[in-house]
Order: sequence, then structure tokens, then C-alpha cells
Amino acid sequence: MNRPKRIAIIGSTGSIGTQTLQVVSAHPDLLTAEILTAGSNADLLIRQAEQYKPNAVVIADKSKYAEVRDALQHLPIKVFAGEESIAQIVTSGEIDAVVTAVVGFAGLQSTLNAIKARKQIALANKETLVVAGRLVTQLAAEYRVPILPVDSEHSAIFQCLEGEDPDAIEKIILTGSGGPFRTFTAGQMAGVTKAQALHHPSWTMGAKITIDSATLMNKGFEVIEARWLFAASPEQVEVVIHPQSVIHSMVQFRDGAVKAQLGLPDMRLPIQYALTYPVRRSMDLPRLDFSVCQSLTFEQPDLQKFRCLALAYRALREGGNRACALNAANETAVRAFLEDRIAFNDIARINETVMDKAAFVAEPTVDDLLATHREAGRMAGEMAGMAEHKSII
Ligand code: NDP
Ligand code: MG
Repeated sequence: MNRPKRIAIIGSTGSIGTQTLQVVSAHPDLLTAEILTAGSNADLLIRQAEQYKPNAVVIADKSKYAEVRDALQHLPIKVFAGEESIAQIVTSGEIDAVVTAVVGFAGLQSTLNAIKARKQIALANKETLVVAGRLVTQLAAEYRVPILPVDSEHSAIFQCLEGEDPDAIEKIILTGSGGPFRTFTAGQMAGVTKAQALHHPSWTMGAKITIDSATLMNKGFEVIEARWLFAASPEQVEVVIHPQSVIHSMVQFRDGAVKAQLGLPDMRLPIQYALTYPVRRSMDLPRLDFSVCQSLTFEQPDLQKFRCLALAYRALREGGNRACALNAANETAVRAFLEDRIAFNDIARINETVMDKAAFVAEPTVDDLLATHREAGRMAGEMAGMAEHKSII
């Protein structure tokens, strides 16, 4: 392509969104940000719009519409509001690719619409594949739209698979740091605080994924994400705890060879690779120094202590809408934990109970998934003692 790739960043004000904009700034010859969207952070969306001069911006929170419109009046930038507008704008003729950097179920509709409009997908929003992996991957195959992973583990696997025959994959080995509570006893886990849970040993990320990393729900979601992205069976996806976070994941092939991708933990690398693939462009980041990084260690995850990881495997085995129910329960439980309504261990307890109770649908449609999301979110909200459960959709 001679002109720069025109991208939409859904969730440009978040952790992945702001790092995507840094990648855009580093490669103005290759990338331009044409659509930016935020949930409710009007201030940052306005500043980003002034700097990157996109074609359009959308703020999900309609009460912030006038503020954004007035601030950008002097610029030729279209301003819209509401989640429906975000889901619609990804079909715009002004863009070639969509970075899904929104958090949670809220990313599903825009991803589906973008695929139908034949936009390339750089997928950070893993919940989309957790909730609707079968539908999303089938749709992408039907429309011949590539889904390029942004999640560091999946980017690592994707890089290991370059030039390989997918049938030669024996096993996908997802690495994880183990989070801040890797060495905690069950007793210590019961009393962990929000501040402790929000302090991840290797990565700085949005609040929701940081809590998911502490419960290992994130690793469980990544197992589901890998199953769909790489057409693997649940038994083929293994998790290994690797506290140094240097190996970002590995693939074992049928001849026993194992390929790994290594690097310092920085999301700008997988974001850039997803946006410039198949070309590997230069990147001005610190390099891995083997005189400093002297040991790489590995251990098995403790599925008794980290129930959320076991629940993700269970959801995969049971199929249907189970992972959607798990995701909805988890979104609500994590919000309740962040609002100091429940204890850390309650997150796994709520997730498991909701998975047991939510009605099972073997082959869910998008409407079924929406209904499951609402039902499971309501159940989790009741368990968390949330007087009035606010649905995000
Ligand atoms: P953040 O919480 O930092 O950012 C989320 C973004 O989505 C913000 O722009 C936010 O807007 C917007 N948003 C939130 N809710 C809504 C909504 N209901 N409608 C529209 N927009 C909304 O999250 P992260 O960047 O950390 O994560 C984004 C996704 O990427 C998640 O799925 C996560 O699992 C995945 N991911 C993240 C990694 C990381 O390093 N952060 C690594 C790998 C995957 P506002 O700012 O206005 O609230
Ligand atoms: Mg990850």
C-alpha cells in the first residue's frame, strides 16, 4: 500500500489505545489515526483529536457530547456520541483497519460490524473472542478478514507460526508471569487489598485486565483466545508460569521443536507488528540484555489457588455460551471488587456460581450471547450485593 494505513482505534484513551497512538506517531509514513473513540474521558479524547486530527471521534458517554463537539468546533473533525455510534463508525469508508482496544463485552458489536465491512482487525479486546469466539472467527473466515493479535502472548504465537504449517502444531504454550500473588498462600490471598491486586509485577495496564491478571482469569481468557485464533483444541493450549515475562509464549511442533518469542515486556511491539504485518518495522525501544536477564524459570500454575484459570478450561470444554456467562460474571465481579464491595476471592466464587446457574445454550446467536451477558451480569451483581446492577450495555 502506498498511502498510510488508515486506522480506527476503538478505546483510544485506554492503555492499549494510547500506546497505539505512540506507534502511529513513530510511523507517520505507514499509519494514520482516522477515528478515535473513548468511553467517558472527554479531556483526553479532545487532546488526542487536536494532536492527531482524525476524520471523526466518538464518545460513548452521551452526556459528554456537547463538551467534545464545542472543544473541536474549530477543526474539521466529525463528533458523535453513544455506543451505537461506535459500533457503526467502524464500517466507515475512511478506514482500512480497526484496533479493538475497548475493554469487555462492549467490544463485540463493533468487531462484528468491522469484519462485515471487511476491515482488518488488530484485536486487543480478548473478551470478544471469549464471548463469541466461534461466531467471530467464522465471520472473519467468511469475509476473508484477517484478525491480527495484539495480546502479547498471541502475538508471540503468531510470530512463531510465521512460515509454519498450522497442521504441524502440537501444542501452544502460553506463558504468564503468575501475577502479584503467585507465591501467596490461600490464606494470604483471602486478605489481599485492591492496591496489591492493582500492582502487576511486569506490565502496566488498564484496571480491569490488571485484576484479571491477579486472579489468572486473564490467562484463562487467553487460553480461550488462543483456541479460537489458532484453531487449537482446549487440550492443545497449555499454560506455564514464567515470572520474568521475557518469553511471551511458545509453540511446540510435531517434531518436538519448540519456538519462542522473547523480548522486554512492552505492548508497543505487538501493537506495531499487528499494524505493519507482514513487515517487521524498526522500533526504538530498549533491547533485551542477556547480561542482565540471567535466568528464565518456569512453574506449573496452581489451579486450586487460581480457580479462574480452571473455570476458563471448563468453559472451553463445555462450549456454547459458558464462556460468555463466565466473562459477564467476571466483568461484574471485578467492578464490584474495584468498588470495594467484595473480597478478592469472591471474584472466583461469583464466577463459578454464575457459570453453574446461567442457562446453557449450545449454539448461541449474537442475541443469545447478549441475553446471557445480561442474565449472568445480573446474577453476579446480586451476589456482589450491588443494589442496582448497572449493565454496561
Ligand atoms: P483501559 O481500561 O485502559 O481502556 C479501555 C478503553 O475502552 C478506554 O479508551 C475506555 O474509555 C474505553 N471504554 C471503556 N468502556 C467503554 C464502553 N462501554 N464503550 C466504549 N468505550 C469504552 O483498557 P486496556 O487498554 O488495558 O485494555 C483494552 C483491551 O485490551 C482489553 O480487552 C484488555 O484485555 C486487552 N489487553 C490489554 C493489554 C494492556 O497491556 N493494557 C494487554 C493485552 C490485552 P475511557 O478512557 O473514556 O474510560
Ligand atoms: Mg496477554
